Amino acid sequence: MKLRAHAGPLTDKLARIPGPGALGQLPARLAPDATTDLVCGFCSTGCGLTAHLKDGVAVNLTPSADYPVNQGAACPKGWDALRPTAATDRATTPMIRGSRGRLVPTTWHRAIATFVSRMRAVQDAHGPESVAFLSTGQITTEEMALLGALAKFGMGMVHGDGNTRQCMATAVSAYKECFGFDAPPYTYADLEASDVIVLWGSNLAVAHPILWERLWRNRNRPKLIVVDPRRTESAMAASQHVALRPKSDLGLAYGLARLLIHSGAVDRAFVDAHTEEFDAFAAHVEEFTLERVCQDTGLTPEAVTALADAIGQGKRVSLWWTMGVNQSHEGVLTAQALIALSLMTGQIGRPGTGPGSVTGQCNAMGSRLFSNTSSLFGGRDFSSDTDRKEVAGILDVDPERIPQTAGLTYDRILEGVSAGRIKALWVIGTNPAHSWIHRRLADDVFDKLDFLVVQDMYETSHTAQRAHLLLPAAGWGEKEGTFINSERRVGLLKRVLRAPGQALTDFAIFRLVAQAWGVGEMFARWDSPEAVFHILRELSRGRPCDITGIADYHTLNDAGGVQWPCPEGAPVPRGDERRLFSDGKFFTDTGRARFRFGATTPLPEPPCDEYPLLLLTGRGSATQWHTGTRTDKSGVLAKLHPSEIYVELHPDDARRLAIRPHEPVRVESRRGALTARAVLTHKGRAGEVFVPMHYEATNRLCYPAFDPTSRQPAYKAAAVRVRPLERWEDA
Ligand code: SF4
Repeated sequence: MKLRAHAGPLTDKLARIPGPGALGQLPARLAPDATTDLVCGFCSTGCGLTAHLKDGVAVNLTPSADYPVNQGAACPKGWDALRPTAATDRATTPMIRGSRGRLVPTTWHRAIATFVSRMRAVQDAHGPESVAFLSTGQITTEEMALLGALAKFGMGMVHGDGNTRQCMATAVSAYKECFGFDAPPYTYADLEASDVIVLWGSNLAVAHPILWERLWRNRNRPKLIVVDPRRTESAMAASQHVALRPKSDLGLAYGLARLLIHSGAVDRAFVDAHTEEFDAFAAHVEEFTLERVCQDTGLTPEAVTALADAIGQGKRVSLWWTMGVNQSHEGVLTAQALIALSLMTGQIGRPGTGPGSVTGQCNAMGSRLFSNTSSLFGGRDFSSDTDRKEVAGILDVDPERIPQTAGLTYDRILEGVSAGRIKALWVIGTNPAHSWIHRRLADDVFDKLDFLVVQDMYETSHTAQRAHLLLPAAGWGEKEGTFINSERRVGLLKRVLRAPGQALTDFAIFRLVAQAWGVGEMFARWDSPEAVFHILRELSRGRPCDITGIADYHTLNDAGGVQWPCPEGAPVPRGDERRLFSDGKFFTDTGRARFRFGATTPLPEPPCDEYPLLLLTGRGSATQWHTGTRTDKSGVLAKLHPSEIYVELHPDDARRLAIRPHEPVRVESRRGALTARAVLTHKGRAGEVFVPMHYEATNRLCYPAFDPTSRQPAYKAAAVRVRPLERWEDA
């Protein structure tokens, strides 16, 4: 009945949806045969790409020569970004699971009507907390903002989270507690200005190739130190490789802090003027003696001391971390310890300094600030009356519609489904049936749902295949909006391709849902991506992430992206690169940065007699992106990495286990198993094995531990055993 009440406006709206073939009218402002710049849609580096157009459609891409981020370079994913959009498994029409259990094509009208009626039915029967959404760092800021407002203020959902929980939640928590706001302080130019660069849990050469290039443009002949259990590509090029035991990072960081204090390397003037709680931190790290640290990390005293000396004696020291820190059972404390190393030595706010988390997805930062999931718009707090009233005023919505909590995190949402409390799930642009750390739980989850809606570019993803309703979405290059990269740069995405068939932009789909749900009026102002950008500007006004100085999309285009903060009236020169905290003022109530610390905790699943090896996971190559939903579609990219799943084994382990090079082996954990080719290498140490993260089977092995503060999954350490496949089959 409720649906019927809105049938008029919905029908009107749907009647205006163009049919197949008529979609994809390109913006008139692009000349049919020309070039135009837009940001890449894979990683958080946020490179500028130049699209070469023929008849108004992109036919080729080259790196933008003068974009401040990449300065004429691109990695293979960026060069080949067009190909995955033309894949044959693009979702081109809405699909609904029919009576025979198969997904069958349907109309947009029926799809949206089904979405509304079934979501409402679940909510009516089980309450507002029985429906949830899982979103992504891969859609535009404007789309994620519209989704967050629609779901939480319009549809009454309490729970929604992004897949950025899997990559950056740890850094978010660490920054918020230490700086008072989720504020990565650096700019990429710092990589070119340091004289000591520490990559901690970061294989920059593979995960962020363009930042790796920028590092090598550094003319100071910097000392490059890589802290990583594996001898990665980055570690091979380093002046010092600190090959610590997996997940002993926190103790090492505390031990370094103690050595710095004892050697007089503390910048007392900076600490006294701009920080708080240093003395308590200093007392805490006192127990991390060199002897204890060496015992816990497996490092020599010389290696630890050399690292401390490099940090203590460098003039411009920058520390960069990524998933080796973030995806850990004590990731937040580790990130905070790295921040502490920068603070105590005064290495922040100047060129070439600072602690920096290098983000994963192209719009992870947009998600952190404007998705309205874990924080209220603009990095505000759902639990704050003041913040809710402020947002309600700006958006002209009833403050009572704004939830008073952030809702459940990703892992808790899936647990809620597993426990039967959440019965309908809307998954947008992510693939949890492949990517979630706890594959068995993920499998169970989708079977337990009364209603699973997947909104995606592809109909073949593991999650899409489980959907009751599949909504075909336009992808990168088929829509406009903004992404925010790791260094806080808002970049512009343009529409240079036609979406296939009846696929619609996520933005258009959210608008249709709003209309059909009966809250179209609430979103009347949200009628185009650029209109939403202006709403986001207002939501950012006076906040640390203020972007009111970016007048419009043209400003972004002309400037080559603009970093926040950019308050109204600020200049936006092209190529500007800015860092935070040069004035020593932080976003805390006192204006001082905080030292945060806590107890180290043991590995959640240590190796044992039955599972004697420790599994590490990570990026396999620069040509693979996450679950491969897009990069697997490119024949060119596929030629640049091994086609089969492989496991890296130390030759000593291989000898002991009678495993020959390239032999198929079975890798087993307590949760599942996979078959892989054995690659014998000295990259890791004896007792440790490595499997790339991109394969769906990898996550069958992982141990589902989480950082207790950020709830980020700890993908990188699980106990496993490895046997030759032949012997396993005989067993
Ligand atoms: Fe795109 Fe990242 Fe490659 Fe740059 S480094 S081209 S942003 S995938």
